[in-house]
Amino acid sequence: MILSSFWRKVANMANDKSILLVSSEPKILKSLQKKILLPAGYAVLTLPTLEEARQASAEEEPAIVLLSLDLGVDDSMAFIEELLLTYPQVGLVLLGDSIEPGLLLQAMRMGAVDFVAAPFGKSKILEAVGRAVQARKAMQSWLKKESGRLTGKLNRRLYEMEALLKQVNDGVLVLDENKKLVMVNRALRESFGLDEKDYQGYALSEVFDNQDMQDLLMRSDGSIERVEIEAPDGKSYSMQISIVDNVGTVASLHDISSLKALDRLKGDFVNTVSHDLRSPLTAILGYVELIERAGEVNKQQASFIQRVKDSVASTTRLINDLLNLGRVEVGAENDMERLNLLDIVEDSVDVHKTRADEKKIKILLQAEKKLPMVVGNVTQLRQVVDNLIGNAVKYTPEAGEIRVMLREQTKQLVFYVGDNGPGIPPAEHQRIFEKFYRAKDAHKQAQGTGLGLAIVKTIVDKHKGRIWVDSTPGKGSVFTVVLPTAEDS
Ligand code: ADP
Repeated sequence: MILSSFWRKVANMANDKSILLVSSEPKILKSLQKKILLPAGYAVLTLPTLEEARQASAEEEPAIVLLSLDLGVDDSMAFIEELLLTYPQVGLVLLGDSIEPGLLLQAMRMGAVDFVAAPFGKSKILEAVGRAVQARKAMQSWLKKESGRLTGKLNRRLYEMEALLKQVNDGVLVLDENKKLVMVNRALRESFGLDEKDYQGYALSEVFDNQDMQDLLMRSDGSIERVEIEAPDGKSYSMQISIVDNVGTVASLHDISSLKALDRLKGDFVNTVSHDLRSPLTAILGYVELIERAGEVNKQQASFIQRVKDSVASTTRLINDLLNLGRVEVGAENDMERLNLLDIVEDSVDVHKTRADEKKIKILLQAEKKLPMVVGNVTQLRQVVDNLIGNAVKYTPEAGEIRVMLREQTKQLVFYVGDNGPGIPPAEHQRIFEKFYRAKDAHKQAQGTGLGLAIVKTIVDKHKGRIWVDSTPGKGSVFTVVLPTAEDS
C-alpha cells in the first residue's frame, strides 16, 4: 500500500527523479533523504530491508537505486543481480564504509554505476546520483536503438512473409495450438468464397462448412499427410497438413482439378477405345469359327485359324486388363465394406483348381482360425487374389506346389502366395509391378499382358496396404500383401 502510493506520487514526475534508498541504518536513510535528495528535487522511498526493496521494484521500475552495503554483502549482490537483469537501465549506486576491489568489480560488471564511500557528503552523493542518471539515459537510448533495429528487421521479415503467403496460389491456413484460426490467405478465401477480413481467433467451424476439412484438421496429429477436398468453387484440392512446433497446424491446399480432369479423360479414353475394340474382336472370333464349320480345312489352314484365335484371345486379355486398370485408377468401384478375406481366397482357390489340376499342381491353403476383418471393395480384392494365385498357377511348371496363407500379424492382415516356380531375378522385383512390364523370360513361360501386377498394386495402394515379392530364381516366388484391419482403417 505504502509502495503503491509512492509510485502514484512519482508517476507524474520526470522519469529519472525516483530513488529507492535502501539501508538498515535509519540514520543514513534519514539524512540522505531529508538533507540531500529531497532538497535536490528527487522523490525518495526509503526501504530498511532488501525484501521491501524487492517488492518496490517488482511493482514499478525504479529510476535510481542507492543501496547501502550494511544489509549483508552476499544478499546485496544477489539483489543487484536480480534487479539489473530485470531492469538493465536502472542507475545503481552502492554506498558503504569500504568495498573489496573484487566485489566492486563484480558489481560493476553486473551494471552498477558507482560506489560512494562514507562519509556521505552532499556533493559526493549528488554527483554519484547524477552519474547514475546519465548512465541510465545512455543505456535507455542504446536499448531503444537496438530494439528499434531488431523490431524493424522483424517487421520487415513479417511483412515479406505475409505478402508471400497472401500471394501464393495455393491456399494456406494456420491454426494455433487450440485449433483457432491464425490466418487464412487470399487464395483460400477465394476458393471458399470468404469475405476479406481478419479471421484470427475464429473457430474453424465458424468459417468453413466443409465437414471433411474440419474433421481432418481438428483431429490431425501430424500423421495424416494428404487428403482430397472439394471446395465451393467446384474445384478439387489436395490438402496437406503439417504440425509446426510453436506455431500449430498448417494446411496448404493445392488445386488438382486439372490433374483430375486429365485423369478422367484418360480413363474415358481407355474405356471407350477398349469397348470399341472388343466388338470387332468378337466378330473376328465368330467368323473364324464359322470357317471351320463352313467346310473341310486342310492342316495348314487349321493352324492359321488357331493362330488367329490365339491372337484374338491375347488381345481380348489385354483389353480386359486395360479396362480393369482404368476402372481401378478412376475409382469407379468405391463401395467399401467389412469383409473376411478368407471367403474371397477360398472362392479363388476353387476357381483355379481346374487349371492347377491340369498341370498337376497342388494348391495348399492355410489360414488362421480367427482372422481379423478388413475394409475393402470385394470386386477389387477378388482381382488381387485372382491375379496372384493365377500367376502362381500360370508360371509354376507341372507338378509344382502353391502355398496360400492368411494370418494376422501386428494388427494387420497378411496374405501370402508362394510357389516353387521359376522365380524372378532381384533386379526385376520392383519393375514387375509397373504397367506392361513382363520379366525377361516371361514370354517363354506363359502368355500375359504385363498389367496384372500393376492392377494388383493399384488396388492394394487404394486399400492403404503394401505388396512386395521375395523370390530366388530357380526356387520360387512369394508375394506378400499386407492390409490394415477393419479396426485400423
Ligand atoms: P503377366 O503375368 O500378364 O505378364 P503380371 O503383371 O501379372 O503380368 O506379372 C508381371 C511379370 O511378373 C510377369 O510377366 C512375370 O515375369 C512375373 N511374375 C509374376 N508372377 C510370377 C510368379 N508367380 N512367378 C514368376 N514370375 C512371376
